[in-house]
Amino acid sequence: MIGFKESPWIIHYDASSCNGCDIETLACLTPLYDVERLGVINTGNPKHADIFLVTGAVNEQSKEVIRNIYHQLPEPKVVVAVGICASTGGIFRDCYNVSGGVDSVIPVDVYVPGCAARPEAIIDGVVKALGVLETKQKEMVEMAHSIDKVIYLQADKTDAPEILALQKVAYQSEGELYGDDSLPALQQSLEDLQNDFERKPNREASLLGARGQSEDPEDRVIFIKAVVNGKIIGSIRGFAIDNTAYLSRMMVHPYFRGRGIGRRLLDEIEKAFPRVTRFETKTGHQSKRNLFQMSRRGYTEFKREPFTPTITWVYLQKTVSAVGHRNSGRQPAVATKSN
Ligand code: SF4
Repeated sequence: MIGFKESPWIIHYDASSCNGCDIETLACLTPLYDVERLGVINTGNPKHADIFLVTGAVNEQSKEVIRNIYHQLPEPKVVVAVGICASTGGIFRDCYNVSGGVDSVIPVDVYVPGCAARPEAIIDGVVKALGVLETKQKEMVEMAHSIDKVIYLQADKTDAPEILALQKVAYQSEGELYGDDSLPALQQSLEDLQNDFERKPNREASLLGARGQSEDPEDRVIFIKAVVNGKIIGSIRGFAIDNTAYLSRMMVHPYFRGRGIGRRLLDEIEKAFPRVTRFETKTGHQSKRNLFQMSRRGYTEFKREPFTPTITWVYLQKTVSAVGHRNSGRQPAVATKSN
């Protein structure tokens, strides 16, 4: 961590600024402010950077570039939105091609106000970013040490903000894979996700293409979360109609992938539906990791449906023999440790 604090490396990207904020950012490097004397390096390589500093509002052209740069920064990383345009879209927010501030595309940690943002404010923002970076670094070290103590719990409505934040991070790679922001997981609002906790399955079913209505008044969407050190690092949701459980949004934080967490999430959500004899889910046709993981858990493809010009949904199913094939009762395994 000392390296971060003594010499943070920054990558600066102009999303579509009027250049006012860029000039102020560059002023930080001039002899008057000379942040390099404090160890701050302005690098052109995202793989070497700790802090992603963005100026200007996000438009259709800069969206993909921002996402691309963001993914190349190693974890932990911090995003600083410099100026009103980067924070909210500013005076450009109603333009036909502007989607808003940087947080409309990637998570932002520090907002620097001003039009243009003054060099002193930008330096303050970077100092704040160092604090955030230190906190993230400590959290990651603690989580990495406790990865064998992941617990799997049923989530409730109060978890919605954390699950949504995870969803936006976890699905960035899918959005990038398809070059398409219209993935429902990336578009979902907090209100919509909170409503999911109370939604009766028939509405969700229409989203997944299911037929029929639940006759069990207790049926609802069940969320499972993977928690380590009090932080949610994975989640999946599902609901049952008749003899089928429809599963969706299996996600694991990118830093914790490849450690069996997705597999355990799938096991836990299946246990939550002991009465069904069939499971159904879907994923994008290019999501090879998901397809591989699902096939290893016994899921097979049964249909394909185009969703957008770039995304085709692959529907997968798995049939299980009879009632009682898993634990009895409707509750998922609670507070079980991963192996
Ligand atoms: S905040 Fe002001 S100075 Fe900065 S990019 Fe927007 S309009 Fe330009």
